[in-house]
Amino acid sequence: MKTIFPTAKFQQLRTPFYYYDTELLNKTLQVAQSEANNYGYHLHYAVKANANPRVLAIIRAAGFGADCVSGGEIQAALEAGFAADKIVFAGVGKADWEINLGLDKDIFCFNVESIPELQVIDALAAAKGKMARVALRINPEVDAHTHTHITTGKKENKFGINLDQLGDILDELFGLNNVRLIGLHFHIGSQLTELEPFQALCERVKTLQAGLAKRGLHIENINFGGGLGIDYDHPDAHPVPGFGSYFKIFHDNFPVTAGQRIHFEPGRSIVGQCGSLISKVLYVKEGSVKQFVILDAGFTELIRPALYQASHLIENLSSDKKAETYDVVGPICESSDCFAKDIQLPQTQRGDLIALRSAGAYGEIMASQYNCRQLPVAYFSDLL
Ligand SMILES: *Cc1c(COP(=O)(O)O)cnc(C)c1O
Repeated sequence: MKTIFPTAKFQQLRTPFYYYDTELLNKTLQVAQSEANNYGYHLHYAVKANANPRVLAIIRAAGFGADCVSGGEIQAALEAGFAADKIVFAGVGKADWEINLGLDKDIFCFNVESIPELQVIDALAAAKGKMARVALRINPEVDAHTHTHITTGKKENKFGINLDQLGDILDELFGLNNVRLIGLHFHIGSQLTELEPFQALCERVKTLQAGLAKRGLHIENINFGGGLGIDYDHPDAHPVPGFGSYFKIFHDNFPVTAGQRIHFEPGRSIVGQCGSLISKVLYVKEGSVKQFVILDAGFTELIRPALYQASHLIENLSSDKKAETYDVVGPICESSDCFAKDIQLPQTQRGDLIALRSAGAYGEIMASQYNCRQLPVAYFSDLL
Protein backbone atom coordinates (compact mmCIF):
# COMPACT_ATOMS: atom_id res chain seq x y z
CA MET A 1 0.00 0.00 0.00
CA LYS A 2 2.37 2.66 -1.27
CA THR A 3 1.50 6.26 -0.52
CA ILE A 4 0.94 8.00 -3.85
CA PHE A 5 1.35 11.76 -3.62
CA PRO A 6 -1.01 14.05 -5.59
CA THR A 7 1.89 16.23 -6.69
CA ALA A 8 -0.13 18.40 -9.09
CA LYS A 9 -2.54 19.32 -6.28
CA PHE A 10 0.38 19.95 -3.92
CA GLN A 11 1.68 22.58 -6.38
CA GLN A 12 -1.34 24.76 -5.61
CA LEU A 13 -0.97 24.60 -1.84
CA ARG A 14 1.12 26.78 0.37
CA THR A 15 3.98 24.80 1.88
CA PRO A 16 5.03 23.48 4.34
CA PHE A 17 2.07 21.32 5.32
CA TYR A 18 1.26 17.89 6.71
CA TYR A 19 -0.33 15.36 4.41
CA TYR A 20 -2.19 12.36 5.83
CA ASP A 21 -2.98 9.27 3.79
CA THR A 22 -6.44 8.54 5.21
CA GLU A 23 -6.66 5.15 3.53
CA LEU A 24 -3.40 4.02 5.13
CA LEU A 25 -4.51 5.30 8.54
CA ASN A 26 -7.76 3.33 8.25
CA LYS A 27 -5.94 0.23 7.06
CA THR A 28 -3.49 0.48 9.99
CA LEU A 29 -6.33 0.88 12.47
CA GLN A 30 -8.16 -2.08 11.02
CA VAL A 31 -5.08 -4.34 11.17
CA ALA A 32 -4.23 -3.25 14.73
CA GLN A 33 -7.80 -3.75 15.89
CA SER A 34 -8.28 -7.15 14.29
CA GLU A 35 -4.92 -8.49 15.53
CA ALA A 36 -5.77 -7.25 19.06
CA ASN A 37 -9.24 -8.81 18.81
CA ASN A 38 -7.62 -12.22 18.24
CA TYR A 39 -6.70 -12.16 21.92
CA GLY A 40 -9.38 -9.84 23.33
CA TYR A 41 -6.85 -7.05 23.95
CA HIS A 42 -8.04 -3.46 24.45
CA LEU A 43 -6.40 -0.58 22.58
CA HIS A 44 -6.03 3.00 23.76
CA TYR A 45 -4.47 5.33 21.22
CA ALA A 46 -1.65 7.45 22.71
CA VAL A 47 -2.97 10.92 21.89
CA LYS A 48 0.43 12.55 22.31
CA ALA A 49 1.64 11.03 19.02
CA ASN A 50 -0.83 13.11 16.99
CA ALA A 51 -3.82 15.06 18.28
CA ASN A 52 -5.01 16.50 14.98
CA PRO A 53 -8.82 16.60 15.50
CA ARG A 54 -9.61 14.64 12.33
CA VAL A 55 -6.92 12.04 13.06
CA LEU A 56 -8.45 11.62 16.53
CA ALA A 57 -11.97 11.35 15.10
CA ILE A 58 -10.89 8.62 12.66
CA ILE A 59 -9.14 6.66 15.43
CA ARG A 60 -12.14 7.00 17.74
CA ALA A 61 -14.45 5.78 14.95
CA ALA A 62 -12.27 2.65 14.68
CA GLY A 63 -13.23 1.80 18.27
CA PHE A 64 -10.08 2.81 20.16
CA GLY A 65 -9.91 4.28 23.63
CA ALA A 66 -7.50 7.13 24.41
CA ASP A 67 -4.31 7.31 26.45
CA CYS A 68 -3.79 10.90 27.59
CA VAL A 69 -0.85 12.55 29.34
CA SER A 70 -2.36 15.96 30.10
CA GLY A 71 -5.64 17.72 30.78
CA GLY A 72 -5.46 19.23 27.32
CA GLU A 73 -5.26 15.78 25.80
CA ILE A 74 -8.26 14.63 27.85
CA GLN A 75 -10.19 17.61 26.47
CA ALA A 76 -9.03 16.88 22.90
CA ALA A 77 -10.04 13.22 23.27
CA LEU A 78 -13.47 14.12 24.66
CA GLU A 79 -14.01 16.66 21.88
CA ALA A 80 -13.14 13.99 19.32
CA GLY A 81 -15.85 11.81 20.84
CA PHE A 82 -13.82 9.30 22.85
CA ALA A 83 -15.93 7.87 25.67
CA ALA A 84 -14.68 8.98 29.10
CA ASP A 85 -14.75 5.38 30.30
CA LYS A 86 -12.18 4.55 27.61
CA ILE A 87 -9.74 7.29 28.64
CA VAL A 88 -6.65 6.55 30.72
CA PHE A 89 -4.51 9.35 32.15
CA ALA A 90 -0.76 8.94 32.63
CA GLY A 91 2.12 11.33 33.34
CA VAL A 92 4.64 12.05 36.11
CA GLY A 93 3.35 15.54 36.80
CA LYS A 94 -0.43 15.76 36.86
CA ALA A 95 -1.63 19.21 37.99
CA ASP A 96 -4.63 19.50 40.32
CA TRP A 97 -6.89 20.92 37.59
CA GLU A 98 -6.00 17.99 35.35
CA ILE A 99 -6.81 15.45 38.06
CA ASN A 100 -10.06 17.30 38.79
CA LEU A 101 -10.96 17.21 35.10
CA GLY A 102 -10.38 13.45 35.03
CA LEU A 103 -12.52 13.03 38.17
CA ASP A 104 -15.33 15.27 36.86
CA LYS A 105 -15.45 13.36 33.58
CA ASP A 106 -15.21 9.97 35.30
CA ILE A 107 -12.32 8.73 33.17
CA PHE A 108 -11.53 5.03 33.28
CA CYS A 109 -8.25 5.24 35.17
CA PHE A 110 -5.41 7.38 36.51
CA ASN A 111 -2.02 5.79 35.93
CA VAL A 112 -0.21 6.86 39.08
CA GLU A 113 3.54 7.37 39.15
CA SER A 114 4.38 8.26 42.78
CA ILE A 115 3.15 8.21 46.41
CA PRO A 116 2.63 12.01 46.59
CA GLU A 117 0.55 11.87 43.40
CA LEU A 118 -1.56 9.07 44.87
CA GLN A 119 -2.18 11.17 48.00
CA VAL A 120 -3.25 14.19 45.94
CA ILE A 121 -5.64 12.13 43.80
CA ASP A 122 -7.14 10.66 46.97
CA ALA A 123 -7.61 14.12 48.52
CA LEU A 124 -9.14 15.64 45.37
CA ALA A 125 -11.45 12.64 44.94
CA ALA A 126 -12.48 12.88 48.61
CA ALA A 127 -13.35 16.57 48.13
CA LYS A 128 -15.75 15.53 45.37
CA GLY A 129 -17.07 12.50 47.24
CA LYS A 130 -15.72 10.27 44.49
CA MET A 131 -13.70 7.09 44.21
CA ALA A 132 -10.81 7.38 41.73
CA ARG A 133 -9.80 4.27 39.81
CA VAL A 134 -6.01 4.05 39.75
CA ALA A 135 -3.40 1.83 38.19
CA LEU A 136 0.19 1.92 39.38
CA ARG A 137 2.73 2.67 36.71
CA ILE A 138 5.57 0.35 37.51
CA ASN A 139 9.06 0.82 36.18
CA PRO A 140 9.84 -2.76 35.19
CA GLU A 141 13.58 -2.09 34.77
CA VAL A 142 13.61 -3.51 31.27
CA ASP A 143 16.06 -2.02 28.78
CA ALA A 144 14.19 -1.17 25.60
CA HIS A 145 17.37 -0.84 23.48
CA THR A 146 16.13 2.40 21.97
CA HIS A 147 17.34 6.00 21.93
CA THR A 148 18.15 7.26 25.47
CA HIS A 149 15.67 10.13 25.12
CA ILE A 150 12.80 7.73 24.50
CA THR A 151 13.65 4.88 26.85
CA THR A 152 11.45 5.00 29.94
CA GLY A 153 11.63 1.63 31.71
CA LYS A 154 15.04 1.81 33.38
CA LYS A 155 15.64 2.47 37.07
CA GLU A 156 17.14 5.91 36.51
CA ASN A 157 14.24 7.21 34.39
CA LYS A 158 11.87 9.74 35.94
CA PHE A 159 8.88 7.60 34.99
CA GLY A 160 7.05 5.05 37.11
CA ILE A 161 7.40 3.48 40.52
CA ASN A 162 10.51 1.38 41.01
CA LEU A 163 9.97 -2.28 41.82
CA ASP A 164 11.58 -1.98 45.27
CA GLN A 165 9.06 0.73 46.24
CA LEU A 166 5.95 -1.18 45.22
CA GLY A 167 5.34 -2.63 48.68
CA ASP A 168 5.37 0.82 50.28
CA ILE A 169 3.02 2.36 47.75
CA LEU A 170 0.57 -0.55 48.11
CA ASP A 171 0.57 -0.10 51.90
CA GLU A 172 -0.12 3.59 51.35
CA LEU A 173 -2.84 2.91 48.80
CA PHE A 174 -4.77 0.49 51.00
CA GLY A 175 -4.80 3.12 53.75
CA LEU A 176 -6.57 5.66 51.52
CA ASN A 177 -10.37 5.82 51.14
CA ASN A 178 -10.93 7.48 47.80
CA VAL A 179 -8.66 5.55 45.45
CA ARG A 180 -9.27 2.02 44.25
CA LEU A 181 -6.51 -0.06 42.67
CA ILE A 182 -7.70 -1.52 39.39
CA GLY A 183 -4.48 -2.39 37.63
CA LEU A 184 -0.82 -2.11 36.80
CA HIS A 185 0.63 -0.03 33.98
CA PHE A 186 3.93 -0.32 32.13
CA HIS A 187 5.54 1.55 29.25
CA ILE A 188 9.16 0.72 28.54
CA GLY A 189 9.97 3.11 25.72
CA SER A 190 9.24 4.09 22.17
CA GLN A 191 10.32 3.07 18.66
CA LEU A 192 11.25 -0.47 19.73
CA THR A 193 12.34 -2.35 16.65
CA GLU A 194 12.97 -5.69 18.36
CA LEU A 195 10.37 -7.69 20.23
CA GLU A 196 12.67 -9.19 22.90
CA PRO A 197 12.24 -6.29 25.36
CA PHE A 198 8.46 -6.92 25.27
CA GLN A 199 9.11 -10.56 26.06
CA ALA A 200 11.30 -9.48 28.99
CA LEU A 201 8.46 -7.20 30.09
CA CYS A 202 6.04 -10.14 30.11
CA GLU A 203 8.43 -12.16 32.29
CA ARG A 204 8.79 -9.24 34.70
CA VAL A 205 5.05 -8.72 34.99
CA LYS A 206 4.43 -12.44 35.53
CA THR A 207 6.90 -12.48 38.43
CA LEU A 208 5.40 -9.32 39.87
CA GLN A 209 1.90 -10.71 39.60
CA ALA A 210 2.90 -13.95 41.34
CA GLY A 211 4.34 -11.88 44.20
CA LEU A 212 1.14 -9.87 44.51
CA ALA A 213 -0.98 -13.02 44.43
CA LYS A 214 0.87 -14.09 47.58
CA ARG A 215 -0.51 -10.91 49.21
CA GLY A 216 -3.95 -12.01 48.04
CA LEU A 217 -4.04 -9.40 45.27
CA HIS A 218 -5.57 -10.14 41.91
CA ILE A 219 -4.82 -7.54 39.24
CA GLU A 220 -7.88 -6.83 37.06
CA ASN A 221 -6.15 -4.75 34.41
CA ILE A 222 -2.68 -4.99 32.95
CA ASN A 223 -1.64 -2.17 30.61
CA PHE A 224 1.51 -2.86 28.61
CA GLY A 225 1.80 0.69 27.20
CA GLY A 226 3.02 1.45 23.70
CA GLY A 227 6.37 1.43 21.98
CA LEU A 228 6.03 -0.67 18.83
CA GLY A 229 8.40 0.86 16.27
CA ILE A 230 7.91 1.67 12.59
CA ASP A 231 10.25 1.33 9.61
CA TYR A 232 11.51 4.87 9.01
CA ASP A 233 13.88 3.69 6.27
CA HIS A 234 11.34 1.82 4.14
CA PRO A 235 7.87 3.32 4.67
CA ASP A 236 6.49 1.90 1.43
CA ALA A 237 7.80 -1.62 2.12
CA HIS A 238 6.34 -1.60 5.66
CA PRO A 239 3.43 0.83 5.70
CA VAL A 240 1.61 -1.11 8.45
CA PRO A 241 3.72 -2.17 11.47
CA GLY A 242 3.83 -5.83 12.53
CA PHE A 243 0.92 -5.80 14.96
CA GLY A 244 0.42 -9.55 14.48
CA SER A 245 3.82 -10.59 15.83
CA TYR A 246 3.72 -7.83 18.45
CA PHE A 247 0.49 -9.02 20.09
CA LYS A 248 1.53 -12.66 19.66
CA ILE A 249 4.62 -12.02 21.84
CA PHE A 250 2.30 -10.98 24.66
CA HIS A 251 -0.13 -13.80 24.00
CA ASP A 252 2.68 -16.38 24.04
CA ASN A 253 4.47 -14.96 27.08
CA PHE A 254 1.75 -13.59 29.30
CA PRO A 255 -1.04 -15.98 30.30
CA VAL A 256 -4.12 -13.97 31.17
CA THR A 257 -5.75 -14.83 34.49
CA ALA A 258 -9.52 -15.26 34.87
CA GLY A 259 -11.40 -11.99 34.42
CA GLN A 260 -8.24 -10.04 33.60
CA ARG A 261 -8.25 -7.38 30.87
CA ILE A 262 -5.13 -6.55 28.88
CA HIS A 263 -4.58 -3.06 27.47
CA PHE A 264 -2.11 -1.43 25.08
CA GLU A 265 -1.37 2.19 24.22
CA PRO A 266 0.04 2.33 20.70
CA GLY A 267 0.89 5.80 19.39
CA ARG A 268 3.61 5.91 16.76
CA SER A 269 2.65 2.55 15.25
CA ILE A 270 -0.87 3.85 14.53
CA VAL A 271 -0.16 7.24 12.98
CA GLY A 272 3.54 7.26 12.02
CA GLN A 273 3.45 5.99 8.45
CA CYS A 274 0.29 7.76 7.25
CA GLY A 275 1.79 11.25 7.62
CA SER A 276 4.31 13.15 5.53
CA LEU A 277 5.63 16.66 5.87
CA ILE A 278 5.51 18.31 2.45
CA SER A 279 7.92 21.16 1.85
CA LYS A 280 9.31 23.17 -1.05
CA VAL A 281 12.93 23.83 -1.88
CA LEU A 282 13.70 27.50 -1.36
CA TYR A 283 17.30 27.41 -2.52
CA VAL A 284 20.05 25.02 -3.47
CA LYS A 285 23.19 26.51 -2.01
CA GLU A 286 26.57 25.45 -3.28
CA GLY A 287 28.90 25.57 -0.27
CA SER A 288 32.63 25.18 -0.68
CA VAL A 289 32.54 21.53 0.48
CA LYS A 290 28.83 20.67 0.37
CA GLN A 291 25.59 21.34 -1.43
CA PHE A 292 22.69 22.35 0.77
CA VAL A 293 19.03 21.89 -0.07
CA ILE A 294 17.30 24.61 1.94
CA LEU A 295 13.64 23.79 2.61
CA ASP A 296 10.78 26.01 3.71
CA ALA A 297 10.17 23.48 6.54
CA GLY A 298 12.41 23.30 9.58
CA PHE A 299 12.42 21.86 13.07
CA THR A 300 9.45 24.06 13.84
CA GLU A 301 7.41 21.64 11.71
CA LEU A 302 9.33 18.40 12.43
CA ILE A 303 11.63 18.39 15.43
CA ARG A 304 12.49 14.68 15.64
CA PRO A 305 15.80 14.91 13.74
CA ALA A 306 16.99 17.81 15.93
CA LEU A 307 15.64 16.30 19.16
CA TYR A 308 16.47 12.60 18.82
CA GLN A 309 18.86 12.46 15.86
CA ALA A 310 15.98 10.69 14.11
CA SER A 311 16.10 10.20 10.38
CA HIS A 312 13.15 10.44 8.02
CA LEU A 313 13.22 9.21 4.44
CA ILE A 314 13.39 12.27 2.19
CA GLU A 315 11.99 12.17 -1.34
CA ASN A 316 12.03 14.71 -4.13
CA LEU A 317 8.55 14.53 -5.67
CA SER A 318 9.46 16.82 -8.58
CA SER A 319 12.71 15.42 -9.94
CA ASP A 320 13.91 12.11 -11.30
CA LYS A 321 17.25 13.40 -12.52
CA LYS A 322 20.60 11.82 -11.68
CA ALA A 323 21.35 11.58 -7.94
CA GLU A 324 23.64 14.04 -6.19
CA THR A 325 24.76 14.36 -2.58
CA TYR A 326 23.11 17.00 -0.39
CA ASP A 327 22.61 18.14 3.18
CA VAL A 328 18.92 18.89 3.63
CA VAL A 329 18.32 21.75 6.06
CA GLY A 330 15.58 24.09 7.24
CA PRO A 331 15.42 27.88 7.46
CA ILE A 332 15.51 28.16 11.28
CA CYS A 333 18.36 30.07 12.86
CA GLU A 334 19.87 27.09 14.71
CA SER A 335 22.57 24.71 13.48
CA SER A 336 20.51 21.76 14.69
CA ASP A 337 17.91 22.63 12.05
CA CYS A 338 19.13 19.91 9.74
CA PHE A 339 17.03 17.01 8.45
CA ALA A 340 19.79 14.91 6.85
CA LYS A 341 23.47 15.02 6.01
CA ASP A 342 25.13 13.68 2.86
CA ILE A 343 22.08 11.97 1.40
CA GLN A 344 21.46 11.15 -2.24
CA LEU A 345 18.60 12.95 -3.95
CA PRO A 346 17.81 13.39 -7.62
CA GLN A 347 19.33 16.66 -8.81
CA THR A 348 17.26 19.24 -6.97
CA GLN A 349 16.29 22.80 -7.77
CA ARG A 350 14.35 25.71 -6.32
CA GLY A 351 10.61 24.98 -6.26
CA ASP A 352 10.89 21.18 -6.09
CA LEU A 353 8.44 19.49 -3.72
CA ILE A 354 10.04 17.41 -0.98
CA ALA A 355 8.33 14.78 1.18
CA LEU A 356 9.67 13.90 4.63
CA ARG A 357 8.12 10.51 5.17
CA SER A 358 6.85 8.71 8.29
CA ALA A 359 6.11 12.02 9.98
CA GLY A 360 2.61 11.24 11.26
CA ALA A 361 3.77 10.56 14.83
CA TYR A 362 5.44 13.25 16.95
CA GLY A 363 5.43 15.55 13.91
CA GLU A 364 2.56 18.02 13.63
CA ILE A 365 1.86 17.75 17.37
CA MET A 366 5.40 18.90 18.26
CA ALA A 367 5.31 21.90 15.92
CA SER A 368 6.29 25.25 17.43
CA GLN A 369 6.17 28.90 16.46
CA TYR A 370 9.85 29.59 17.08
CA ASN A 371 11.09 32.39 14.80
CA CYS A 372 7.42 33.59 14.76
CA ARG A 373 6.60 30.93 12.21
CA GLN A 374 3.03 29.81 11.57
CA LEU A 375 1.94 26.38 12.71
CA PRO A 376 1.67 23.95 9.77
CA VAL A 377 -1.76 23.10 8.36
CA ALA A 378 -2.83 19.54 7.52
CA TYR A 379 -4.52 18.01 4.46
CA PHE A 380 -6.06 14.57 4.13
CA SER A 381 -5.87 12.41 1.00
CA ASP A 382 -9.63 11.83 0.90
CA LEU A 383 -10.50 15.53 1.22
CA LEU A 384 -7.95 16.99 -1.19
C1 LIG B 1 4.31 7.86 24.70
C2 LIG B 1 3.51 6.87 25.41
C3 LIG B 1 2.85 5.87 24.69
C4 LIG B 1 2.95 5.71 23.20
O1 LIG B 1 4.20 5.33 22.78
P1 LIG B 1 4.48 4.96 21.24
O2 LIG B 1 5.91 4.61 21.23
O3 LIG B 1 4.16 6.16 20.44
O4 LIG B 1 3.60 3.80 20.91
C5 LIG B 1 2.09 4.98 25.41
N1 LIG B 1 1.95 5.07 26.76
C6 LIG B 1 2.56 6.03 27.47
C7 LIG B 1 2.37 6.07 28.92
C8 LIG B 1 3.36 6.96 26.83
O5 LIG B 1 3.97 7.90 27.54
